[in-house]
Amino acid sequence: MHVKQTELVFNPANGHVVRFDGRAMLFHVPTSALFELDALGAAVIDVVQEQERIDGDALAENLSSRFARADVVQLIEQLTQLEVLQDHHAPRAVNPRRVDIQSYPLSTIVLNVNTGCNLGCTYCYKEDLAVPAKGERMSFEIAARSVDLLFEQAATRDKVNIIFFGGEPLTNMPLIRQVVEYAETRGAQSAKAVDFSLTTNATLLTPELVDYFDAHRFGISVSIDGPKAIHDRNRRTVGGHGTYDVVTRKARMLLARYRSRAVGARVTLSSGTTEVEAIHEHLREGFGFHEVGYAPVTSAPNVPHGLTQQELLEVHEGFERLGERYLAAALRGYNTGFSNMHQLMTDLHEGRRKSLPCGAGVGLLAVDRQGGLNLCHRFTGSDLAPFGNVASGIDSTRLGEFLGRASDRDGTHCATCRIRNLCAGGCYHESWVRYGDPHHRTYHYCNLLRRWVDFGIRIYAQLSARNPDFFRAHIEPRRAA
Ligand code: SF4
Ligand code: SF4
Repeated sequence: MHVKQTELVFNPANGHVVRFDGRAMLFHVPTSALFELDALGAAVIDVVQEQERIDGDALAENLSSRFARADVVQLIEQLTQLEVLQDHHAPRAVNPRRVDIQSYPLSTIVLNVNTGCNLGCTYCYKEDLAVPAKGERMSFEIAARSVDLLFEQAATRDKVNIIFFGGEPLTNMPLIRQVVEYAETRGAQSAKAVDFSLTTNATLLTPELVDYFDAHRFGISVSIDGPKAIHDRNRRTVGGHGTYDVVTRKARMLLARYRSRAVGARVTLSSGTTEVEAIHEHLREGFGFHEVGYAPVTSAPNVPHGLTQQELLEVHEGFERLGERYLAAALRGYNTGFSNMHQLMTDLHEGRRKSLPCGAGVGLLAVDRQGGLNLCHRFTGSDLAPFGNVASGIDSTRLGEFLGRASDRDGTHCATCRIRNLCAGGCYHESWVRYGDPHHRTYHYCNLLRRWVDFGIRIYAQLSARNPDFFRAHIEPRRAA
């Protein structure tokens, strides 16, 4: 039996092998599928990688003392079909093509209910942020038109999502109450479920407000950065005082009263703050937040709050240690609530294949005070012109062009990147802030992201081999929800 006469090469843009504990996992990049390589699979790939290129017959010959030739030939065919092995002379198969996104019906609208915030956190990124007294509040007219647009756009969906954002959204509770009533009425008329959520600094929460949110099943995340010494570094009042004491008092009250949904904590990691394990312990074990998610500030290295490369590395190493703890607990069937890790597990479990980095513009738009439709909450108040207005509708020509360009990997490092279908180029807003171009790729931490995915593959492989029930219990229901 002969192999077709080709010189085989390994295509790292389509296949990536992660080895640990004597095991080898092949990550098939185009499909985000994971395969455990047996001894033959690992040997074939080893030899091709070592030789850089090798004739198929010579490869079978090379392995003939350990494996039957027919098995080697069959495996070469399979790996060639996957385009993990390729003919040396053929152009490397990648998928840089632009995706033409014809339709992007909204499922989620973010309402920027007030640009004002009652705190003065040192790292706040919002261009349009003001103190509450100077905050610009959204009118009910704009908010109602936003809800109308959402329902029109989501005609075929069973559920729509409304996210209240600011500034601090609780500084405009009258509007939130009006919107909830209006949207629930529209939802009842059109047999659609309406999901509400918000992220709050918690300082304005009262028992009455908590009960109100509970009655309407709001998804709530609290912005809190960890133990007092860490939190008070940046999360301060306008007058510069730490807010830990008030935030934790309110957060405890919230966690004690809230029944309808799990409450999460959202942590901003800025320069000087890399202690992710201590933060996790404090918020998860100390407070009982259901999950703790971390947002490293990586967008602006030239301003004081951006994490340095060294700090980013420290954060990443802390993530890996927390990830090991996540694995140890998951093997016992328990989710530690490390949400960055859980998201990666979900992406790998579902075989996520992204053409675009996030839902901004596809299914989600954020409305500013004037009714402008922005890519997401971070763009409200920015200089990037909105993509239409709630009065006139979505500027679908411009939005389609934006999304098409974002999906086009031609000429970028993303075209051949092994995590291109998980990262898809990174956050538009980070690139907007850092490079002045939302389509620029977030090249400043690609290596760490790739390392993070490799780490995730290792954790996923161990978990799926030793306790696959974890995915059924903790990931599949989440997707169904
Ligand atoms: S931004 Fe970097 S890590 Fe992300 S897909 Fe592009 S090259 Fe890969
Ligand atoms: S552009 Fe960035 S901030 Fe906005 S939704 Fe996407 S990932 Fe999030």
